[in-house]
Amino acid sequence: MLELLEHCPVCGHTGSVPYLEVKDYTVSEEVFQLVNCPSCDFVYTNPRPEANGIGKYYKSSDYISHTNSGKGFMNSLYQIARKRAIRTKLDFISTLNPNPRTLLDYGCGTGEFLAAAKEEGWVCAGLEPDDDARKLAIENHSLNVDRSEHLKELPSGQFGAITLWHVLEHVHQLKDTVDQLKRCLSSKGVLVIAVPNRTAYEAEIYGPHWAAYDVPRHLYHFSRKPMLQLMDKAGFECHSIQPLFFDPFYISLLSGGYKNGSKNFFSAMWYGMQTTIKGKKDIDKNSSLLYVFTRRVGE
Ligand SMILES: [Zn+2]
Repeated sequence: MLELLEHCPVCGHTGSVPYLEVKDYTVSEEVFQLVNCPSCDFVYTNPRPEANGIGKYYKSSDYISHTNSGKGFMNSLYQIARKRAIRTKLDFISTLNPNPRTLLDYGCGTGEFLAAAKEEGWVCAGLEPDDDARKLAIENHSLNVDRSEHLKELPSGQFGAITLWHVLEHVHQLKDTVDQLKRCLSSKGVLVIAVPNRTAYEAEIYGPHWAAYDVPRHLYHFSRKPMLQLMDKAGFECHSIQPLFFDPFYISLLSGGYKNGSKNFFSAMWYGMQTTIKGKKDIDKNSSLLYVFTRRVGE
């Protein structure tokens, strides 16, 4: 069943205007409508599958973030890139000097990032809605991983760092989740959120074929202004914003495949590079952005 949102999930404005029609290329082949909030410029998938009905849209071998069974050249490449990405993410978190060294990865998937953090001495916890992914995280890495609903039961102020790597765009209860994350963060903690960036150069190039729309799994299509508004309302301050590396190439590869029917390595390299170059000049042109938030003093 689909649910229709009457209000903007960021600013609460009633009513929205059509933005783009996008097809689900990975699983259902269904077409979904993206709408734009005229008040805060947020773009979201509307209508969208309900929380208890969205599971079927994740059932695909292509949905690689939940699987490790990589075969073939592109998957091997993806696995290598993923290892590098984990290293980069860990180094990045360490530069933020979180206090205490306790880490919650919300939407931890099969737990590779947490496992690497644990090896470096972090006290780690994960939350993950997918039963299979959660099981793998626990069995393969002996991690402490619970269902996502468990967020409400975690003690307040416990985590020095909370990370959401391409997760917030999947979360039905957006505002409640952000509020709970704030509650769980220590007073000097950092909340790290990486999301696709809707104003990316690649989104202009590929239009409705831009892979990071990824409907209906992506319920929200963040850009800088609405993201900052959402977090400001929840009592966060923005510490920094930067591009997330490795994404432009992979997203271009997928997008080209959706647009032309086959993946083209060289054109992906070209557009990935173009996005990176343009993104260096203008932060809003990057294909994904990495936001760091801290709790506003006194909140
Ligand atoms: Zn709005």
